[in-house]
Amino acid sequence: MEEPTLCIHCDEWFDLSDGYGSEKWHDNTIICRNCHIKEEVEIEADDRWESINIDLVNALYDLDKEKELANRLQPCNKAKILLLAELLK
Ligand SMILES: [Zn+2]
Repeated sequence: MEEPTLCIHCDEWFDLSDGYGSEKWHDNTIICRNCHIKEEVEIEADDRWESINIDLVNALYDLDKEKELANRLQPCNKAKILLLAELLK
């Protein structure tokens, strides 16, 4: 190793030139490749759930605004909403 560096996230040694800038966990810090991969998975999940939440906000807004049109929902979607409402209690 040319520049042994201790990963602040997992306490494993890595060569600085093999590291990656942390995008979420540690500001202005280089982390090891393994942690970088795990961090990327977490960031992708964050992005996915942000998108899901935006879609839900929009759908719920429309449903709330036009409650009388809720009968236009497909039965399978109504069933899922009712099931999720139970789970989220
Ligand atoms: Zn690490």
